[in-house]
Amino acid sequence: MTDTSTDKVIGERNPVAAPGSRTAADAVTAELVARLVRGITTGEQPTLTRSICPFTGETLAELPESSPEDVARAFETARGAQRAWAARPVRERAAVLLRFHDLLFGAQAELLDLVQVETGKTRAHAFEEVTAAAVEARHYGRAAAGYLKPRRRGGAFPVLTQVHEVRQPKGVIGQISPWNYPLALFVGDALPAFVAGNAVVTKPDSQTALTALRARELLVEAGLPAELWQIVIGEGPVVGPEVVAHADYVSFTGSTRTGRDVAQRAAARLIGASMELGGKNAMIVLADADLDKAAEGAVRACFSSAGQLCISIERLYVARPVADAFLEKFAARTRAMRLGNTLAWGADMGSLVAPRQLETVTRHVEEAVKNGARVVAGGKPRPDVGPLFFEPTILDGVTEDSAVCTEETFGPVVSIYRFDGEDEAVDRANGTPYGLNSSVWSGSTRHGAAVAARLHSGTVNVNEGYAPAYASVAAPMGGMGDSGIGRRHGSEGLLKYTEPQTIAVQRVLSMAPSFGMDDEGYAKLLTRALGAMKALRLK
Ligand code: NAD
Repeated sequence: MTDTSTDKVIGERNPVAAPGSRTAADAVTAELVARLVRGITTGEQPTLTRSICPFTGETLAELPESSPEDVARAFETARGAQRAWAARPVRERAAVLLRFHDLLFGAQAELLDLVQVETGKTRAHAFEEVTAAAVEARHYGRAAAGYLKPRRRGGAFPVLTQVHEVRQPKGVIGQISPWNYPLALFVGDALPAFVAGNAVVTKPDSQTALTALRARELLVEAGLPAELWQIVIGEGPVVGPEVVAHADYVSFTGSTRTGRDVAQRAAARLIGASMELGGKNAMIVLADADLDKAAEGAVRACFSSAGQLCISIERLYVARPVADAFLEKFAARTRAMRLGNTLAWGADMGSLVAPRQLETVTRHVEEAVKNGARVVAGGKPRPDVGPLFFEPTILDGVTEDSAVCTEETFGPVVSIYRFDGEDEAVDRANGTPYGLNSSVWSGSTRHGAAVAARLHSGTVNVNEGYAPAYASVAAPMGGMGDSGIGRRHGSEGLLKYTEPQTIAVQRVLSMAPSFGMDDEGYAKLLTRALGAMKALRLK
């Protein structure tokens, strides 16, 4: 096996992808910024906040912040537009999503630029965002009418009581989004809210507001009334609570720590909330797995968007008999990954987004090494590529008292653990308070699926890391335990934005004694009727 000490790894630095000809300044012109910031609800003399390009650290844009009064105004405007929108037939609302699908691909190059310069991810990882948003637009564009269809339910009395369950929109949804998937999550969580008849007020992360604003422009171009989607910008702890204070329902995606605060504020107002939170996701490589495929898959699972992906793998459990062979294959592929600060295709991994991410990643790696872990690949920042670059890193021999073992790192760092039996692998994979995503690799898909069902996580992928479950948008996606409440995607991802309403029509006979019958006679009749209904197996 390749030598794994930290010092030896120096000199085997990850290669750097060829630079492209275009820079962030080419992608984000002053004209574009001036046009996009007009989409933010702000006052006349707003405070300005700066976003940076993670590739270089240079300023990208100065964005006007929204005051509490601006947030209140955004909700008022959105509320004013919502009723007319909800009155439109579902198919008309769904048609907007289907047009948006095509516009996303039409504006693809521009969207890839924006996602890249705001997040520092590679073009290929930015492309995942465009496809995720488009797939969701198509799904809800096609499936919403079915999900929202009034359902006939069994009435109190057959024939006499006719009951329908209908879905009413909640009203105005307050959406709070993170920076890591500024297109996929921002769009993905708003589309089902709109098609269900709601308005949305979104607070994206200021760092990635331009992507959000451009996506909103496209949805308006597709036919969404502009007032229906309001964007407010500002510090999370200041503007976030204002959004929760006015919303009829909250759709939050972010860290577990912030999610707890948001959930408490929503609970105090007795409004519903979905919480898509952090994870410490595990991958299990069983002894019968195809090790080449598992090693390839691990690279994708651990280092997509430089590990700044909520469903990224940070703990890798490998069956002891195959662990060294797997690690050798995985490490070779990881060391060959090309780091890139380029707007061209061809890089395998990009930058971290902000200094605080780099600080967490560095601290987790350094502490693990101090506690005895070995660096198998990576392990170092790469200021020669950009100020926030850190190499894709594999650690072996991590001790349980190290933060990297239990806390979400949210960076390109994975720890390898060996296991002796499947029960042990399952117990250890389940051994955190989180439960977002996991992955099982086996030569037998049936066996892999059986192990998957024992894992405490909202999604489990067999013979892949995260993509099949996330991209299967007809099925629910979300977290158990500290990873969240509620689900996105599928019927649940849409119906959460609605209130179920029961409309019961009583015909011919009222539900009370009739034709001069006294209470006792009515009780006898009802007793016989209920007995007959049970005998007839009516529900
Ligand atoms: P974060 O919690 O710091 O911020 C998320 C959003 O909340 C931002 O818009 C932020 O401005 C806002 N915010 C901050 N403080 C707030 C407050 N007190 N009240 C209301 N809003 C507030 O998270 P982050 O660092 O931006 O994102 C990374 C985290 O998000 C990771 O933990 C990651 O796992 C998680 N995440 C989860 C999912 C999922 O689907 N489960 C998806 C993406 C990211």
